[in-house]
Amino acid sequence: MSADQLIAALDSEDGGVRHLRRLPARASVRAAWPEWVPDEVRKALGDTGITLPWPHQAEAATHAFEGRDTVIATGTASGKSLAYLLPLLTEAAADGPGRTLYLAPTKALAADQARAVAEFDVPGLIPAIVDGDTPFEHRQWAQRFANLVLSNPDLLHHSLLPRHRMWRSLLKDLKYVVVDECHVYRGVFGAHVALTLRRLLRLAAHYGASPVVIAASATAADPAASLSVLTGRPATAVTVDSSPSPGATVALWEPVTYEVEGEPQQASTLSETARMLAQLVRRGVRTLAFVPSRRGAEIVAAEAKSRLGADPSAGRIAAYRAGYLREHRRDLEADLREGRLLGVATTNALELGIDVTGLDAVLLCGYPGRLASFWQQIGRAGRGDTEALAVMLAKDDPLDTFLVHHPEAIFDRPVEASVCDPSNPYVLAGHLCLAAEELPLKESDLASIPGSRAVADELCEQKLLRKRAGGRYYWIGSERPEVTLRGSGPMGVDIAETSTGRLIGTIDAAASHRLVHRGAIYLHQGESYLVDDLDLEEGLALVHAAKPPWTTSSQEITHLEILAERERLEMGDVTLSLGEVEVTSCVISYQRRRLPSGEVIDTQQLDLPPQTLRTVAVWWTVDPESLDGLKDLAGSLHAAEHASIGLLPLIATCDRWDIGGLSTAAHMDTELPTVFVYDGHPGGAGFAEQAFRKWTDWLGATREAIAGCDCTSGCPSCIQSPKCGNGNEPLSKPGALTLLKKVLAAAEGPVTAKSFADKPVKEEDDLWPGDF
Ligand SMILES: [Zn+2]
Ligand SMILES: [Zn+2]
Repeated sequence: MSADQLIAALDSEDGGVRHLRRLPARASVRAAWPEWVPDEVRKALGDTGITLPWPHQAEAATHAFEGRDTVIATGTASGKSLAYLLPLLTEAAADGPGRTLYLAPTKALAADQARAVAEFDVPGLIPAIVDGDTPFEHRQWAQRFANLVLSNPDLLHHSLLPRHRMWRSLLKDLKYVVVDECHVYRGVFGAHVALTLRRLLRLAAHYGASPVVIAASATAADPAASLSVLTGRPATAVTVDSSPSPGATVALWEPVTYEVEGEPQQASTLSETARMLAQLVRRGVRTLAFVPSRRGAEIVAAEAKSRLGADPSAGRIAAYRAGYLREHRRDLEADLREGRLLGVATTNALELGIDVTGLDAVLLCGYPGRLASFWQQIGRAGRGDTEALAVMLAKDDPLDTFLVHHPEAIFDRPVEASVCDPSNPYVLAGHLCLAAEELPLKESDLASIPGSRAVADELCEQKLLRKRAGGRYYWIGSERPEVTLRGSGPMGVDIAETSTGRLIGTIDAAASHRLVHRGAIYLHQGESYLVDDLDLEEGLALVHAAKPPWTTSSQEITHLEILAERERLEMGDVTLSLGEVEVTSCVISYQRRRLPSGEVIDTQQLDLPPQTLRTVAVWWTVDPESLDGLKDLAGSLHAAEHASIGLLPLIATCDRWDIGGLSTAAHMDTELPTVFVYDGHPGGAGFAEQAFRKWTDWLGATREAIAGCDCTSGCPSCIQSPKCGNGNEPLSKPGALTLLKKVLAAAEGPVTAKSFADKPVKEEDDLWPGDF
């Protein structure tokens, strides 16, 4: 069946296709082998079916071979790995001393890569996986003999760099560092990985090596700049994908709506995804459904099976996610590749490089949050010459609703750049300590990171570093500081069963007050638990399995203080600012709400300490005099704030859980009605800054998302927020539209841009419900 026939078969009465886009087929011509690739390597690759490279592979490999840091950023299944394999296989075949360190973001991916490499019969190649599970004697063996060490940034950070003397022989001969799937290194995690890579390159230089960095990335904006931020060195990018593609039809889909008490309600995106998966599988179409949560993937697979009932194809549907045993995952991958499985519902675990090809169709249960992921997932479909089908089903939130009605925001917009900021002092301080402990820091080590000298001097004042004559910084602290690459808080809170002590999961410290306070109902992988106690000192929440007929929602008050305004746009009655803020929030109580109605049963007080966050915020103010008679100013600001948080991922590479907001009819510092949106990570993560730079796009899309929603007084698709600290009250949909119209109109008039070194701090209390 053609893609069009399939779409016609999927269509339902009230929902359906909002937009169809054809992606043209692409033909390709093979390139010749670069002349530096020796015959042994050509033959070994030929034996596995790689007879000649595509031009983009040959070009990137040659850049790296000639000693330039290179990133290859092309589509899914475009054979990016050949770009780094050619130089390292060539080195091995020539029996050269050069060794390669390959870094993947996950252990599974490194293992997958090791298996792929094992198929090449190249003389001299000695690969070894070194990860957290590798026993000591295997590590020792790898240190001495392996010329391809496959690992991950966590192992590098926690083990290899601190014990660099043991790894001296690898570091001394390090010729290539491969950074695979480097687009995942963004935000705060990206900043940590960037500093870890710089520590690696510094130690390699100390032992006399100057390795070339070869990175592979999903399609991204300006990948050379992104790699440069990761390494602190200039980089070259290869971005033209010359692999063949059969083309695809992409449909943007809005699930059916039905009326409940006069208000339109959307059918569950999960159910719609399951319905489509069942329909496609029944027709023999090999389909992958991307679902945002592990539990969601299980639900979609189970529901699709049950829809097929006694149909034999029901047995050919499965779920796939992280957390399964490795062997089980390998079996599922093989079954999918070889067609024994027809339909798989998966989390984004199958989005990264793992080799799954030969699919006819892809379903996206909701926008995956970033365009780069969208294209990566869509790119999974396509087999031989048959046009692929991809369907994205909108979730019930402002961003998805906006996108299905504004397809240009998906198809005619460049993918996001992977942004991270290694100069974030909250991330940098720990790495400077670690680096100094590994090897005293020189002035030149600090040169490539803005602000790092100030952070180093601050660490001297804290008696962690000491600056000696000659400008070197020495580590003088007693214990190596604990720095984790993943997760924002310094430590997480463990969630354990009261009766058995069994560990159920971990939650980051910042979220623990809201989600696992005493009395909270905590959902984990579909199971429901009641929290008996939250011990903040121990970092432990004790819970027991329970299914009471209510749910809980916490209420918090938030105080936001402007510490320093960096930049401001003055536009008559409206101003827009960017700066540093301190957010203090305190979870004060929680409500028990009856299921399923949501009716409030009671409110329970809590006694938790406040939490503070110093971060970066964007905020806008409006002169209230200019709003003549706007009713419910607080509700209007609050609604505009919610929707703008929902739409920020359109502009910045974050998701709505990375950002917080606060709105107030009169803020102490601005003395005006103000809406703040801030990065939820200490020191900021670059999201608020992106919002400031592209504010008309951001607030323009926010206004359209609210205006385009069919509801009368607000719903989860426009102004309600799943994480509101005040139970989504007050909210005014018409008021938000009036306000945003006013703010956007100000951009048409005269604009005065100012920037400030500093702005005095004020101290007064201003308590208001916040959203984080
Ligand atoms: Zn709505
Ligand atoms: Zn709110």
